[in-house]
Amino acid sequence: MRVTNYSKKSASYGVPRRQFLNYMAMVSAIPFSSGHLLGKVNTSPKFSAYPFSLGVASGDPEPDGVVIWTKLASDPLELGGNGIDPEPILVKWEVSEDEAFTKVVQQGSEVAGPQLGHSVHVELSGLDSHRWYFFRFHAGSEVSPVGRTRTAPAMNVMPEKMKFAFTSCQHLESGYFNGYPHMQKEDLDIVIHLGDYIYEYAGIDKRVRKHIGKEIESLDEYRQRYSQYRLDEDLQEAHRVFPWLVTWDDHEFDNNYANLISEEEGISPEAFLARRMNAYQAYYEYMPLRKRSFPQGPDMKLYRKCRYGRLANFFVLDTRQYRTDQPNGDRQKPMTGKVFDPSATMLGREQENWLMSGMLKSDATWNVLAQQVMMAALNRGDEKGERYSMDQWPGYEISRRRLLRFFHERKIANPVVLTGDIHLNWVNDLQLDFKDPKSPLVGTEWVGTSMSSAGDGGNFIPEYERAAKQNDFVKWYNSNRGYVSCELTKDHWKTYFRATPYVTRKGAPIETKAVFMIEEGRPGAQLVSKV
Ligand code: FE
Ligand code: CA
Repeated sequence: MRVTNYSKKSASYGVPRRQFLNYMAMVSAIPFSSGHLLGKVNTSPKFSAYPFSLGVASGDPEPDGVVIWTKLASDPLELGGNGIDPEPILVKWEVSEDEAFTKVVQQGSEVAGPQLGHSVHVELSGLDSHRWYFFRFHAGSEVSPVGRTRTAPAMNVMPEKMKFAFTSCQHLESGYFNGYPHMQKEDLDIVIHLGDYIYEYAGIDKRVRKHIGKEIESLDEYRQRYSQYRLDEDLQEAHRVFPWLVTWDDHEFDNNYANLISEEEGISPEAFLARRMNAYQAYYEYMPLRKRSFPQGPDMKLYRKCRYGRLANFFVLDTRQYRTDQPNGDRQKPMTGKVFDPSATMLGREQENWLMSGMLKSDATWNVLAQQVMMAALNRGDEKGERYSMDQWPGYEISRRRLLRFFHERKIANPVVLTGDIHLNWVNDLQLDFKDPKSPLVGTEWVGTSMSSAGDGGNFIPEYERAAKQNDFVKWYNSNRGYVSCELTKDHWKTYFRATPYVTRKGAPIETKAVFMIEEGRPGAQLVSKV
C-alpha cells in the first residue's frame, strides 16, 4: 500500500543530496529563504481592489505580546499572486488600547514580499500582560479591518479563570462553518484549531460548496485553497476577534500522511517533499505564527508551548511530520505486530523529549496537549475481533504507553488531551492500562467534533454505538458538528460540547449537548449534564 520506508534522519531524506537539491531548485522558482527582498519597496502602492480581503488575525499569545497577521490580496482567488504586483510593499501597523485608535501604544511597518505571498507576521512585544488590544494595518491609502487580540497573563500569576474554544476539520464542500458565529459570542481568551483547516481534494459537484480546481499540489494552488477558505466570513470573523493557537493535521498537506510517506503508492520522496514544502509554506503564510515556525524547505517546527499564567500550559503538538509510517496501512486492525514496534513513534524523539521535559518543568495546574489524533485505545471491533485505528495513537502503542506511564510515574499535574481528526465528540478517561478496568486513571481526553466535515451529522452510527458501549473508559460520544468550549479555574475544568444541528444550510442555532468536568487532582471526566 505504501512506498518503501525511506530513511528519515538525513537532511536529504535518504535521497542523494544533489539529486534532492536539483529537484527542489526545479520545482521552486521562488527563492525560499527569508533573506533580503529584492527590489525597491513600494511605499505608496495602488491596488486594483481592496487589498485586505482576507482580513486580519492574531495568534501565539505571550504575556508581553502576540503575533498580528494580514496578507495583501486584491484578487484572493487568482492563481499566482492574489492580484498584487510581484514587488515588495510597505505595510504599516498600529496597536491601540481602544477600538477607535485614540490610544495607540505601538506602531511600525513591515515589508510584505512576493516570496511569502505578501503575508505580514508582526511579533509584538512590550505590551501589558492579560489585556485586550486592537490592531490594524495600512497599505497605501487602504486600511484593514480592526482586529482584537489579548495577551497572556504574566508567567507567575494564577488567573481566576480562562476560557477557550477548540475545533477542527472544516471541509468547505461538506458544509458551512455554522459554529463560528456562536463561538464569536463567547468570552474566549483563545481559539485552538487542531487541524484539517483546509482539505486538499479536488472540487466535486453537487456539494454544499465547491473547491476551486484539482487536488492541490503547487504553492499557488495551496495559496488559492487557503484564500478560498479564509474568504468564509464566519471563519474570517473568528480570526479577527480572538488570538488563535493553530496546529495542522493531515489535510493541510495530504490525507493520512506520515512523515515522508504518502497515502498513495508510487509517489517518489522527492516529489512528496516538494509538495510538502509548498503545503507548509502556504500554511505559514496564512496563519498567525511566530518566526520560530518559519518553514525550512520541507520542514516546519510547529510544536510549541503557550503558557497561561500558572493556570494552564498548552503543549501544541505535531503528530504528522515526525511519525513513523502507520503499521500495516492506516485502516483499522487488531493490536498486533508492528503496533508494538518499540522504534515506532508518533511524535519523533526530539518532540517527545521536548514535551516530557516541558511537562516536568511545568508548574501549571492544567497541562494540556493540543493535538490531532485520538489517544484512548478505542476498540471499534465486533464479534469477529478487536479493531483499532492504525492512524491514531493505538497504532503506535509503545509511544502511547510511554506517554501515559510518564504522566503517571512523574505525577504530571492534571494532563488533559485535546483531539480533533475524527469528526465526532468523545469523552475518554485515559487509563494507564486500558485492558485492566482497575488500572489508575492518568488523564482525560476531550475529542472535538468537526466544524463541517462529514456533513450535518447527529445521526445514529451503529459502529460507534457499539464502540461507546464496549469501551469502559468512554463516557460519552456524539455525532453532531460544532465545537467545544472549556472553562478553567484552579479547582475545576468544565467542558461544553456545542453542537450545530445542520451545516448544509447557513445559520444554524447552537445547542449544548453535554457538559463534563474534571476536578483538579482527580483525573477522569465527570458528567455535569446532557440533553
Ligand atoms: Fe478531518
Ligand atoms: Ca485528519
